[in-house]
Amino acid sequence: MAEYGFLGLGIMGAPMAANLLRAGHGLTVWNRTAEKCEPLVNLGAKKVATAREVVAASDITFAMLADPAAAERVALGPDGVIEGMDQGKGYVDMSTVDEATSRDISEAVVGGGGRFLEAPVSGTKKPAEDGNLIILAAGDEDLYTEAAPLLDVMGKKRMFLGEVGQASRMKLVVNMIMGGMMASFCEGLALGSKGGLRGEDILDVLASGALANSMFAIKGALIGKGEYTPAFPLKHMQKDLRLAEELGDILCQPIPAAEAASLVFTRALTEGLGDEDFSAVFKTVTD
Ligand code: NAP
Repeated sequence: MAEYGFLGLGIMGAPMAANLLRAGHGLTVWNRTAEKCEPLVNLGAKKVATAREVVAASDITFAMLADPAAAERVALGPDGVIEGMDQGKGYVDMSTVDEATSRDISEAVVGGGGRFLEAPVSGTKKPAEDGNLIILAAGDEDLYTEAAPLLDVMGKKRMFLGEVGQASRMKLVVNMIMGGMMASFCEGLALGSKGGLRGEDILDVLASGALANSMFAIKGALIGKGEYTPAFPLKHMQKDLRLAEELGDILCQPIPAAEAASLVFTRALTEGLGDEDFSAVFKTVTD
């Protein structure tokens, strides 16, 4: 029976790995902060001390890491993925990174005899817990097909988008739109409330027409209660907007609205809101 690995047990990685274990798959896990492996060990995972050992023990290894620096460090650094890579092994990086990072990792994996798939996800903590993520994949299509049963445990929808870089682009496009929406939503709430409107009424109007969406409904209710426990940490939204701006430069596509949103999130980061939910950008745009 095939053996699998999982690297990076943060807000997203932990529930994704837990779902693979609950579906009966053999899983070896590693996380930089080792204690975060314990709940997975309790579900039957084998814990090891390095990413290299995970890859050595697994036919396919999945990773869900913070950002380009973390993805590169874990893949290419000492005791990393490449050191455990061997002929035919698969590496599926589900972190949200830029296309250059993804290509660097892909080249190193393929150079080591392995196969690479980038597979960032759309969806947050709850969809990760419920196995309802949307998985955006690109790279080695045979690996995509082989990993499909596991991707289907973690997600409700998946798509194969072609060569490495295309899934990163799709993910950044989606999060650029989401970041812009959140910044605009929070500014609307701040403006309305300064103008004497009730937050609940603004949410009611939005929910009643073409602007209705679950993000406004869920985050709007939490903002109303002042609850910013991170489902999607603000520092990662700021990272994604920064990476979308870089993509805009690469493709010579102006994205001034996203740049404005990026500025708002960068301000929120400098105000110390990085580890709160990305909806905490509301605190930055309100008095
Ligand atoms: P998170 O809770 O901050 O977890 C980040 C993970 O990366 C942790 O396992 C962390 O290890 C690890 N890490 C960070 N820097 C590292 C380094 N230098 N070396 C090794 N490991 C490192 O983030 P998350 O919310 O799970 O997000 C993970 C990825 O998914 C990000 O790329 C994010 O943009 C993307 N994403 C998130 C969401 C969401 O709603 N949360 C949705 C879609 C996509 P430690 O535990 O040791 O810190």
